[in-house]
Amino acid sequence: TSAPSQTQPTNPVEPPTGTLTSEPGPRVRRWTPRRVLVTRAAVGLPHTEEILRRVAAAGVEDVETVGRVSPPRGTSEREAYAWAKTTLAVVVAPPSALKPQPIPPSADWRIDLAKGCPAHCQYCYLAGSLTGPPVTRVYANLDDVLAPIPGLVGHGTVTSGTAERGHEGTTFELSCYTDPLGIEHVTGSLAAAVERVGTGVYGDGASLRFTTKFDDVAELAALPHGGRTRARFSVNAEEVAARFDGGTAPVAGRLRALATLAAAGYPVGLTVAPVMPVEGWQDAYGQLLDDVRDALAPVAASGRAVDLTVEVITHRFTPGSRDVLMSWYPRTRLEMDVGARRAKRSKFGGVKYVYPTETMRALRAWFETEVPARLPGTPLLYLT
Ligand code: SF4
Repeated sequence: TSAPSQTQPTNPVEPPTGTLTSEPGPRVRRWTPRRVLVTRAAVGLPHTEEILRRVAAAGVEDVETVGRVSPPRGTSEREAYAWAKTTLAVVVAPPSALKPQPIPPSADWRIDLAKGCPAHCQYCYLAGSLTGPPVTRVYANLDDVLAPIPGLVGHGTVTSGTAERGHEGTTFELSCYTDPLGIEHVTGSLAAAVERVGTGVYGDGASLRFTTKFDDVAELAALPHGGRTRARFSVNAEEVAARFDGGTAPVAGRLRALATLAAAGYPVGLTVAPVMPVEGWQDAYGQLLDDVRDALAPVAASGRAVDLTVEVITHRFTPGSRDVLMSWYPRTRLEMDVGARRAKRSKFGGVKYVYPTETMRALRAWFETEVPARLPGTPLLYLT
């Protein structure tokens, strides 16, 4: 999930209309699906009932029980995309989704509350891992999804037992396949997970973490989180966010939300992603870090210690994600030129295209210097 912006939106993609609303007052971005499909296997589960309660409160009237989740017959690829991005499916997580996987460098383990995201980022990280129209599928068997946590505490290689992050205990990343906050007001999955871990339902020693490009945090701020969830906001230079993010909260809103959760005692973080070496990138990312400092200044001034971390992810793509993104956003101006990239092979034989070594070196040197200079005392966990 995530990323960031220019004052003049230049996103050439027209997201389906009527799915995102901003509330008056401190404006926040909320996604309200046009339709909710509940699969038969999910009917009657306790978390399904909670989802349906939230869906009704959000004013969604088109709620249907279905055997399988698929767009209406005869829809074109474009129509299927628009249909999928305005649909919430309530499903039972398959067994493969119930087995946490190691997820370095972010966390020890991955836990999925849902799969899919209603936003429209043109570089979307999910493009290579979703099959078919990108419907957001929320998992109704929440108890099963969270059940592995106690058995994994004390295991893992990223934070568990390390000097730098060991105080977090064993960490579980919630945003590998969704933006958990982006769908929260119609699912409640994130609040349930945060509260259960925060109040010791799964014992001590586990921490959650998630990253988001949304900003509706009032419910989370009021939860008994116990300091056991790190809320990270995926942010970017204004120019990059304005051009390539779609259907998310603006970066300024994400920074307000960051400050709100820091004031509520959450450990917080920045996921600066996907970093792109656009013209004048040093100034643009410098401005971003300064904006973060300014957003958090009132929290620090109130006497509240702010626990902030930074993670930096440079833009990359795979042959598969490039094809999917080009089909979703055929008019994108996102650079996905294999000739301008370095191919990096994974141990499983896959290839991803990252920036050339020289560019990566320059980005790394800049962030390693500027993060401590502009946000003193803030660890840079990794740059990848
Ligand atoms: Fe993240 Fe959703 Fe944007 Fe994909 S569309 S990058 S999951 S916020």
